[in-house]
Amino acid sequence: LLYQKLREEVARVARATVASGLVTGTSGNVSARTPEGDVLITPSGLDYSVLEPEDVCLVDPNGEPKEGELAPSTETPMHTGIYRARTDVDGIVHTHSKFATTLACLGLEIPSVHYMVAVLSGEGRVPLAPYTTYGTEELARHASEALGGSNSACLLQNHGTITVAKSPEKAFSLSVVLEDMAEVYYRALLLGEPIILTEEQMGEVSAKIHSYGQSKPSGD
Ligand SMILES: [Zn+2]
Repeated sequence: LLYQKLREEVARVARATVASGLVTGTSGNVSARTPEGDVLITPSGLDYSVLEPEDVCLVDPNGEPKEGELAPSTETPMHTGIYRARTDVDGIVHTHSKFATTLACLGLEIPSVHYMVAVLSGEGRVPLAPYTTYGTEELARHASEALGGSNSACLLQNHGTITVAKSPEKAFSLSVVLEDMAEVYYRALLLGEPIILTEEQMGEVSAKIHSYGQSKPSGD
C-alpha cells in the first residue's frame, strides 16, 4: 500500500480528534497531501475508533478517488480546494468542536482575545467563512478566502472549524488550541466585555513565536 506512514498519521490523528472530544461520531475529517500532490483523506461515515491506515482514501488533487473501496469524506472538495489555494499546507483537520462551532453559529470570529491566537493566525484573529452547504466547491472557496495566505485556522459559519499546517499532526494540535481559544472567548463574553489585545501587542507575540524557529510556542 502506498504512503503507509502518512496513512498511519491520518488514521492516528482521526482517532485523536475523537479521543480529545473535538469530534463526536463521524462529524470531522482529516487529510494529508502526498509528496506527489494527491490527497489522503478519512473515509465517509466510518467510526474513527476502528479506522485503520488501509481505510484512508487516496484521491487526486480534484478529489477523484484513485484507489480504495471506501468513499472519501463528503468534505473532500473543501480539503482539495484548500490544498490548491495553499501550497504551503500539507495537513488539514476539520471538526465541529463545541465552543468554536457555537461562536460560528453566532456569526462571530475570534479576535485577539488571548496572545495564543497569534499561533492560529498571521492576522491575530480567527476569521469566519460565510455559510454554505457542506461538501460544496463554494464552501472550499469561502474557507480558502477566510484562510487567506497567512491564517492557520478559520471558523465555518453554522458548521465548524478548519485548521491547516505542514502535517495532519500539526493541524490537529492547532485544532486543540483553536477550541481552547474559542472556550476562553465564549466564557469571557459571558462575564463581560473581553479586553482585546492591540495589533502591536499581537505583533510582538508573532515575532517571538517566529524567533523560536521550528519549536512550537509553549503557551507558558
Ligand atoms: Zn463538517
